[in-house]
Amino acid sequence: MRVAEYREPKVIEMVDRPEPEAGPGQITVEIAACGVCGSDLHSFERGFAAQPGQVLGHEFSGRVIDPSDVEGISEGQRVTVRPLIPCLACPRCLAGDWHLCGAGAELNIGYGTQGAFAEQVLVPKALPGMTVFPLPDSVDDQTAAMVEPLAVSLRAATLARPQVGEVAVVFGLGMIGLGVVRWLALSGARVLAVDLSGVRREAALKLGAETTINPAEEDTVARVVEVTGPGGYDMGAAADLVVECSGAAPAFGDALKVVRHGGRLTVAAMYPERVTLRPDRFVEKELEIHGSFAYKDEFGRVIDLMEQGKIDKDVFVSHTFGLEDTLEAFHTQLDKDVSLKVMVEPERS
Ligand SMILES: [Zn+2]
Ligand SMILES: [Zn+2]
Repeated sequence: MRVAEYREPKVIEMVDRPEPEAGPGQITVEIAACGVCGSDLHSFERGFAAQPGQVLGHEFSGRVIDPSDVEGISEGQRVTVRPLIPCLACPRCLAGDWHLCGAGAELNIGYGTQGAFAEQVLVPKALPGMTVFPLPDSVDDQTAAMVEPLAVSLRAATLARPQVGEVAVVFGLGMIGLGVVRWLALSGARVLAVDLSGVRREAALKLGAETTINPAEEDTVARVVEVTGPGGYDMGAAADLVVECSGAAPAFGDALKVVRHGGRLTVAAMYPERVTLRPDRFVEKELEIHGSFAYKDEFGRVIDLMEQGKIDKDVFVSHTFGLEDTLEAFHTQLDKDVSLKVMVEPERS
């Protein structure tokens, strides 16, 4: 079968490999669609969490080829897969926090094991309802390939505990930030969305943002003040909650300025550079700061919401490439002025 192999920063090559074989407790899946993730881009550009020879790709949907001995999974079934495979034995797993499993990444699809920029993938531990999720007919392949990033978004949005009518500011409108905008808007919050990219700001409006801010041309804090009024001591703004999805240092600084006293700051980004900040701000505002990592048990909820028609794929997916054009797919995803979610579909090749 064909796979897209990461060789070194900025180099991906198409090669032939033997098809994977499912052992006990494992299944193999024929890939229908796989999205290019922000973390795939970190790997592609800087080698983050990727050794030469790694096949990236962990946001996918497909059809089961070999269900092996796994109960509840049948041949031909359409599925999406939680690519982070928990050990189920470490203290965090035993406490139910599978997303914080400390056992390492060897089994994580697209990190430790072969990823889904390929014709087929092996699911090294197939647990229906935990790592493998059968799909309803109404959720198409590309929508299903967005369950993973939208589960990341749903976790961040849920940890931010939005209330109806509260003002929320979302920094960074990549896939995760756009998903956060969607989930916050559905929960009745008033969403202000911040990003440099015009395409992405436009998508945020379609997903329910009340207004958008371009930090290159506008004073973000002043624009938030227009909605919330000034913050305590007449400083900054007074947003009830802020979700930081940009991974950019200036956005983190603005986040601390626009959140109100006693407000909530949820941090869901990865930061390529160090961020310098004054921890006094946490204290003075008595902020509630919450990191949000990946997803715990959000996959099922995201699929339900998709089945209810809450996600319009066309707002998110900007480009689709065949597997042989995976490199071009990565370059397209890197161009924030044109791309939202870029998909790779092996059947197109
Ligand atoms: Zn991802
Ligand atoms: Zn574990």
